[in-house]
Amino acid sequence: SCLAPPSTASAPLAILREVFGYEHFRGQQAAIVDHVTAGGDALVLMPTGGGKSLCYQIPALARQRAGCGVTLVISPLIALMHDQVGALHEAGVAAAFLNSTLDWEQAEDVERRLLAGQLTLLYAAPERVATPRFLGLLDTLHAHGQLGLFAIDEAHCVSQWGHDFRPEYRQLTVLHERWPDVPRIALTATADAVTRADIVERLQLQAARPFVSSFDRPNIAYTIVDKKDPTRQLLQFIEDEHPGEAGIVYCQSRKRVDELAATLCTHGLDALPYHAGLPADERRQNQDRFLREDGVVMVATIAFGMGIDKPDVRFVAHVDLPKNIEGYYQETGRAGRDGLPADAWMAYGLQDVVNQRRMIDDSPAGDEFKQVMRGKLDALLALAEATDCRRERLLAYFGERMADASDSIADGAYLARAEGLFDPKSTRPRYRPGFCGHCDNCLHPPAVWDATDCARKLLSTVYRVHEMSGIGFGAGHLMDILRGKSSDKVRQFGHDQISTFGLGAEFSEADLRGVLRQLIAVGALRVDAERFNTVQLLPGARPILRGEQPVRLRAVAAKSGPSRRTK
Ligand code: ADP
Ligand code: ZN
Repeated sequence: SCLAPPSTASAPLAILREVFGYEHFRGQQAAIVDHVTAGGDALVLMPTGGGKSLCYQIPALARQRAGCGVTLVISPLIALMHDQVGALHEAGVAAAFLNSTLDWEQAEDVERRLLAGQLTLLYAAPERVATPRFLGLLDTLHAHGQLGLFAIDEAHCVSQWGHDFRPEYRQLTVLHERWPDVPRIALTATADAVTRADIVERLQLQAARPFVSSFDRPNIAYTIVDKKDPTRQLLQFIEDEHPGEAGIVYCQSRKRVDELAATLCTHGLDALPYHAGLPADERRQNQDRFLREDGVVMVATIAFGMGIDKPDVRFVAHVDLPKNIEGYYQETGRAGRDGLPADAWMAYGLQDVVNQRRMIDDSPAGDEFKQVMRGKLDALLALAEATDCRRERLLAYFGERMADASDSIADGAYLARAEGLFDPKSTRPRYRPGFCGHCDNCLHPPAVWDATDCARKLLSTVYRVHEMSGIGFGAGHLMDILRGKSSDKVRQFGHDQISTFGLGAEFSEADLRGVLRQLIAVGALRVDAERFNTVQLLPGARPILRGEQPVRLRAVAAKSGPSRRTK
């Protein structure tokens, strides 16, 4: 393999300054660049906006200058390739891409320059890499010692546990198998423990050195509210906190995207829709307007966002629950890339829990897959239901303690601009354990109440009605029984005779809904969509019914809640 000899022209810091015009490396960039330039393999986990591109672009230049040849960058998105190659051209770096947008002649021209040693970086889509023609090109380069480095961007795409599985990524093992002496760097911004392990295995990166940056985004404030009237709540949030500012609103369905975008417009906001069902032209136009103009609110499905580098997105709102924490982190991470304060806001309710569970249950996937997906959803629900620091929970999910976060962020142009968030003399956030001071739960500690009694009454009602009538019933009916409302249906089934009838009269409907939602979230109950949305007991109900597991919940509505609140 080609070991880049140290020389002034190929010294990483010199390249950073002369080619890219930056004074210093950020965070772990210097260590990564040194390791990869010297021919080591690396697995880089760095949050969005952390500066992953330079981690392979600088080694690419250093290795090219040292005579080691071209760097091949695998990138999943055409738009992303175009942006990167454009930016490299502006910096005077010889870069090109090979993808489906090139006609035959253009592609041939790129291949000619590649073989002539005129390129420092070549970007290619994963599906192209495995073609015989492309493999032949790489063979030729390798035979002349001109294959310098493989960079695999968005490496989580190789894992079905990641949030954006792309089967073409599986074929990338060919790189390692065919040319084991060429160093590889794989990069991703999102990977929890399961996904990380999968990347290592799928791409055979067991020997690669891991570089894990802190995933904390100190300038992002996290807020999760109870979903009541999400459109009104969203409008209020934007009007109060971000009038005239750019933001992204994520919805689950295309229909909801269209409706919400229209509603926001009637309220005077400059809102645009984006989803895969729109014509390509309209999508491109809307994306361009969002990127170029100020104060555009993009209402979108998750089809929007990957590779969108707009620094001044001031808020990301979710009106529907994302799939899992990785998705939530990735989507909210598009806010505040300029380091200035930004908001991650989400409205979350009972129906979200029911829908997400149903989507997993109904998916055609195998049992193992469903189990992993359920585990991931549970972690997200725990975050949504949490009464303690959201940031700590979020970081913990990525295997990080908050104390580590304050230590590992070294350099701070990106952080220091987050004014007022921490000591101005320091570029590091100052966190107390369990307290970031910058999420809803830290800023306004929620009232917490001991809902054990209420939960047990609710669960035993579910049990009793089933015992008595042999079928399940919906949430509204169960609440009527508990609150002692003798509706026609209650009387018809004789449910006013059940021992828990009227035992929950002290609880408001909002409280009961909150308890129900959280019991579904913790796996004590499920809502069966195939049987008229009836509520059914799950094994998780047992310890609660037996009084072995206390249930402490966030108070839903401060005014109407039960009196036995504790802080
Ligand atoms: P990522 O791919 O990790 O999301 P990028 O590579 O797009 O991040 O970098 C994010 C932004 O930070 C870019 O505008 C980039 O030019 C800038 N950047 C990266 N490294 C540095 C550095 N060492 N000094 C200053 N700016 C940097
Ligand atoms: Zn907090």
